[in-house]
Amino acid sequence: MDIYSFLPSELEEIIAGMGYEPYRARQLFSGLHRGGNPYKFGLSKKLVDELLQRYEFRPVEIIRSLKASDGTEKFLFKLSGGNLIEGVLMRYSYGNTLCVSTQVGCAMGCAFCASTIGGMVRHLTAGEIAAEVISVNALRREGEGRSVTNVVLMGSGEPLHNYDNTVKFLRIVSHELGINISLRNISLSTCGLADKIYRFSDENLPVTLSLSLHSPFDEVRRKIMPVAKRYTVAETVEALKYYFEKTGRRGIIEYAMIKGVNVSAKDAAELKRVLRGLNCHINLIMLNEVKESDLFPPGMAEALRFKRMLAAEGLSATIRKSKGAEIEGACGQLRRRYIEQN
Ligand code: SF4
Repeated sequence: MDIYSFLPSELEEIIAGMGYEPYRARQLFSGLHRGGNPYKFGLSKKLVDELLQRYEFRPVEIIRSLKASDGTEKFLFKLSGGNLIEGVLMRYSYGNTLCVSTQVGCAMGCAFCASTIGGMVRHLTAGEIAAEVISVNALRREGEGRSVTNVVLMGSGEPLHNYDNTVKFLRIVSHELGINISLRNISLSTCGLADKIYRFSDENLPVTLSLSLHSPFDEVRRKIMPVAKRYTVAETVEALKYYFEKTGRRGIIEYAMIKGVNVSAKDAAELKRVLRGLNCHINLIMLNEVKESDLFPPGMAEALRFKRMLAAEGLSATIRKSKGAEIEGACGQLRRRYIEQN
């Protein structure tokens, strides 16, 4: 088990069980999540030696990084069992956003996504997800730049499919003794597991929830996102409304524009209908082309026309700039290339 998966209260029990003063747990948690050498946390050498014998202290290692001209950096992380995951660090004027993975691969099967091509290998632990942030922060300390200030759970994996570890990660990463990222600076993106959205609404974790909708029509969604066979658009939007009622957060609708699939006037009108009563903003994204898929983004003129159609329907939408496109920006691509080459 990795040591990063425990909250301070759990570390207290562990440390007390080993015969040490429980208050050391706060020191240990703080040292671990702020990074650095465990022998420099102010704990006794004997305690650190024993912990190192019992727990994994290096669950994630950066084995490759690629930097784009806009400063976006893509990381390939190796987990202790040898599995690979990806993360992307994007620089904005307001801070540095790290996109983290929550699973090795993904079981959701979206037709436009490279992460799901080999299916899901396994869930990440809460500590492994936290260690993605910690290892990127460690690089920042060694070189230039600021630490991670914002996190998006939008890398490989469906966070709500790995429910317990995702919830625990959110409690760990926002803990004031550790990495201490405000929940308001965290976004969780889901393909629409409606039952889990209801459950998540009651966790008192008011992050920004983004729904990857990609079409307002059930029959189109079923073709490109198998999750739509389980939950209709109407059911998913109802779950989102419940989340926003509970948390007071405004929702985000992620909408990857796909040529010939979801960018017509019919789509704009139906979006207006299905989103009625939902306080939300639509993020339009140019579909990231994946070699293995036959779906393509529209041209910029068509994308702008679709945005105007949404505005005419009274919907708030922006076209999000794709960052780091030249470095295999789409989720799962760097990992696939690395596996192919090695
Ligand atoms: S888009 Fe997200 S939910 Fe869909 S297959 Fe890819 S990682 Fe999974």
